Amino acid sequence: MASLPPIERYTPLPDVTLYRLPMQVFPSGFVGYAYVLLGLDVPTLIDTGSGFGRSTQDLLDGMRALNDEYGEPFQPTDIKRILITHGHVDHMGGLADMLRVTGGAPVGIHPLDRRVLTNYEERVVVATKNLHIYLERAGLSPERLAQMIDMYGFSKQHVRSVSVDFMLEEGQPLMGLHFYHVPGHCSGQVAIRIGDTLLSADHILARTSPHLAAESITHHTGVSHYRESLKKIACLPGITLTLGGHEEPIEDVYERIKHLQQRLDLKAERILDIIRSAGRPLTISDISKQLYQDKRGFDVLLALQEAGAHVEYLYDRGYLAIANLDEVQAKPNPALLYSIL
Ligand SMILES: [Zn+2]
Ligand SMILES: [Zn+2]
Repeated sequence: MASLPPIERYTPLPDVTLYRLPMQVFPSGFVGYAYVLLGLDVPTLIDTGSGFGRSTQDLLDGMRALNDEYGEPFQPTDIKRILITHGHVDHMGGLADMLRVTGGAPVGIHPLDRRVLTNYEERVVVATKNLHIYLERAGLSPERLAQMIDMYGFSKQHVRSVSVDFMLEEGQPLMGLHFYHVPGHCSGQVAIRIGDTLLSADHILARTSPHLAAESITHHTGVSHYRESLKKIACLPGITLTLGGHEEPIEDVYERIKHLQQRLDLKAERILDIIRSAGRPLTISDISKQLYQDKRGFDVLLALQEAGAHVEYLYDRGYLAIANLDEVQAKPNPALLYSIL
């Protein structure tokens, strides 16, 4: 069994202890973190893992270690509040398990991700439909498209709807926790500030650029929102430690944001180069193949969504034009061919 990173302990405020608990959230070995906050009015859990494979067991083992190894008078059943940073399965898929363990602790999430929790089954159907339309327009063959849709559905099968009890709203702090709405990676993504510590969830990670999908699939995602959300955090002074939903802690979040912004600029330039050097209009599928070479399985789908997010950003700003307008007028949903404007 792959070993997990250690539990880490932080003191974001004089009487508040924050524990970072590792979980294997996907069987591929992908690691995610939940956080337990002790010293607020009630013990608070931030994120719940995926509920997939060993994820919930890892989370419970981590919570029990707070008593056994760190001497905290705490058991998993003591959790009295659950905050979900965003509606992605590796952060909220374990929620039903945690509600069972805690006897129904109140759950909070940003309003734009509330429906992911309360109407999950509906959300999957609608998102799958939007993805289908998107992939057709991206230029996939019917066979490839069917493979992608199958893969998309697989990771979502075990999750069920749950109720939500309160909203995480920017400008409405809760027991010293400040919420910042940072859409882009996910519509209702929040970052949480406690003292000088920022829980950045998947908005800012130490090594990877967070996955972005086109806003035509889901509102409030995509490159435009993500860039605005990076600026929002860059304007918060005095953050000395940033802890993500994955990967290592970030010491200098301001430098990390600059780097992420440069990566976005480079990606945009690279797409323009790809179209220019092709000498003919290209689909999102064509662009994705060149932008993200050697991708397999689920990563192909992520690459298609990501390429589309950047193409959408360039198109919205007038860098690209659609080269097959006649076809767009005549057919229900043809592949779009992009050329440089
Ligand atoms: Zn995410
Ligand atoms: Zn994540």
